[in-house]
Amino acid sequence: MLSVAQALERVLAGVPVLGTESVPLAEALGRVLAAPVVAAREIPPWDNSSMDGYAVRAVDTTTASAAHPVVLPVAGEVAAGGVAGRALGPGQAFRILTGAPLPAGSDSVVPQEEVRRDGARISLERPVEPRAYVRARGEDIRSGDRLLAPGAVLRPAALGVLASLGHARVDVYRRPVVAVLSTGDELVEPQALLGPGQIPDSNSYTLCALVMEAGAVPLRLGIAGDRREEIVERLREGLHADVIVSSAGVSVGDRDFVREAVESLGARLDFWKVNMRPGKPITFGRIGERLFFGLPGNPVSSMVTFELFVRPVLRRLGGYRTVSRPRIRARALEPIDNPGSRPGYLRVRLERSDGEVGARSTGSQGSGILRSMLLADGLAVLPGDTRIPKGDEVEVILLMTDSGLTQDD
Ligand code: AMP
Ligand code: MG
Repeated sequence: MLSVAQALERVLAGVPVLGTESVPLAEALGRVLAAPVVAAREIPPWDNSSMDGYAVRAVDTTTASAAHPVVLPVAGEVAAGGVAGRALGPGQAFRILTGAPLPAGSDSVVPQEEVRRDGARISLERPVEPRAYVRARGEDIRSGDRLLAPGAVLRPAALGVLASLGHARVDVYRRPVVAVLSTGDELVEPQALLGPGQIPDSNSYTLCALVMEAGAVPLRLGIAGDRREEIVERLREGLHADVIVSSAGVSVGDRDFVREAVESLGARLDFWKVNMRPGKPITFGRIGERLFFGLPGNPVSSMVTFELFVRPVLRRLGGYRTVSRPRIRARALEPIDNPGSRPGYLRVRLERSDGEVGARSTGSQGSGILRSMLLADGLAVLPGDTRIPKGDEVEVILLMTDSGLTQDD
């Protein structure tokens, strides 16, 4: 049976980065940059004042050429959004407000708190440092600076920089579209009254959410009953997606028709089992250019196999630099057990304790116990038949949580 690492290698082999598209800046948060950002202008574009005060020539205020207090006539005025109508002459001051361009002839600003204003004149007690309170042209960004490379995830500051550079749109990688199908005669929509033997389809909600969290776009195909033709019919609706993900119906039960269904659509299957727990029966293949994942039906198994195999593929398609979640070493705060022979991905909660990260099981680890995922910050990776004693270290894959530990790109 394939190991998780071997299966992941097969899944990622030959997966390209999708094409690019241009999006308005206001819609670009979290998108992946597709072209380098190289500054084509200086920021700030001109020397300007960082204070409300007076623009002066520093040389007019130094003791060498003047006795203190120095008295200067206020001979002009400039506010943010304007420009001084003329140059400042020797021995003059101009009223200046924060963000206004420094008038020609001036080189420094005295904050208004540091002068006494008397009608049309100001007096200064101390000499002014040359360039004081001046934000120099280009001090933030120089023309030609390489600011961001392709693969960067656009965060709020990046959008501000792009706007400052005069871009209203930005080139980003297209987000993969992922068709999500639930299969099973027992499944109904969440709002339905449950008949005998029925359960709500929870997988399509966890999986569509995981798709979005991976920076991709879900296409909900709904529920197909356990009939080959019905599965085929639904899957056809997903054939224009980049990736198709189904859950359930991939074991060896009498009603497990997913494999037959995708094969009848021309799928070339690559593998259908991976040595892991939860989630052994996972099918992977290609239908034409589309990637197909037949995930197991149990709610935890479908989420964990998505994390390990589908998410990396979606990140690769979407142009992210990192495709896998970060891994850390955590201290077991209680014994963590993987009793089965297969490598285990156990759900743990992480806590900071004594400057370290500690891991604690989220409780019952059955593959149908969705609560174990609900509480999880990470997946502890354990070889088969292993018990990590309290106090030992364990490797943990960080999941997306608000624990503050999971920044991964
Ligand atoms: P299967 O792989 O079809 O044998 O399903 C394994 C288990 O997962 C069964 O108990 C199913 O009822 C359950 N299951 C399958 N699909 C879903 C789903 N979409 N939502 C919740 N549970 C499911
Ligand atoms: Mg089933």
